[in-house]
Amino acid sequence: MRRLGIHSFVWTGGQTQKGLEMALDKSAEHGYRMIEFAYLRPERFDLDRLARKAQAHDIQIVVTMGLPPQADVSSEDREVVAKGRALLSDAVKAVRDIGGVRLGGILYSMHGKYNRMPSAEGWKNSVDAIAATAEVAKDSGVEIVLEVVNRFESNLLNTTAQGLKFLRDTGRDDVFLHLDSFHMNIEEADPAAAIRLAGDKLTYYHIGENYRGYLGTGTVDFDAIFGALADIGYDRDIVFESFSSAIVDEGLSLACGIWRDTWTDNDPLAAHAKRFIEMKWDEAQRQRAINAAA
Ligand code: MN
Repeated sequence: MRRLGIHSFVWTGGQTQKGLEMALDKSAEHGYRMIEFAYLRPERFDLDRLARKAQAHDIQIVVTMGLPPQADVSSEDREVVAKGRALLSDAVKAVRDIGGVRLGGILYSMHGKYNRMPSAEGWKNSVDAIAATAEVAKDSGVEIVLEVVNRFESNLLNTTAQGLKFLRDTGRDDVFLHLDSFHMNIEEADPAAAIRLAGDKLTYYHIGENYRGYLGTGTVDFDAIFGALADIGYDRDIVFESFSSAIVDEGLSLACGIWRDTWTDNDPLAAHAKRFIEMKWDEAQRQRAINAAA
């Protein structure tokens, strides 16, 4: 893998500059080399200062977000779609300004539970918006990745196959998939097969347990996941994502349905996740070498 990262919500709800700086320090202290920030609002933070701190720690920054209902690019309402496109464009520029490498998450729809079916017109609006965003991102040196999420967090892209069709429809070769073991565990019949299907369209991977707590204590088959990543020769970034009501952000916690403590102490959680991911990664790479030699 290129870099192992950690979601900033392991450390902070992300509402303050001090919180984000502390998250950078803690991530570095634990040996992570990438951090994920959510819903980065440039007007609320000193992006230069964060960029300098990240650089000093040799930590790369990724930003993820989902769209609010009033800026849903998969809407059939032209004004709502226009708001979404503007929001995405601003988000790309904020990632550029903080020295970030990637914008991911639910960029193609609202982040939340829909009470309607997706529509063909909405799909097209979303495809066009993402293609336009990719053009802005190209000029900003930011990679766009679309997170395929479970049915309660979007109605548009719930499976890898849907994500790949969406990428094809954009007609671009610089938009990629962002997959997540937590979401795949809910939606994919065979998460490992889905990773193989994604192949080189996969450039960002979230590792999370089925209940978003300690890795290895739930039902996600991580041997199969890491085996599939080894099979496709995955050489991009992997980020540990875990949420608990111990750390709350009003937007993300509500959208993700974080109603209880899956952990209370983040230091041992972060240390364990790093060991766990590195161990599973090494095992899968060794296994693949053995299989190739046989
Ligand atoms: Mn995720």
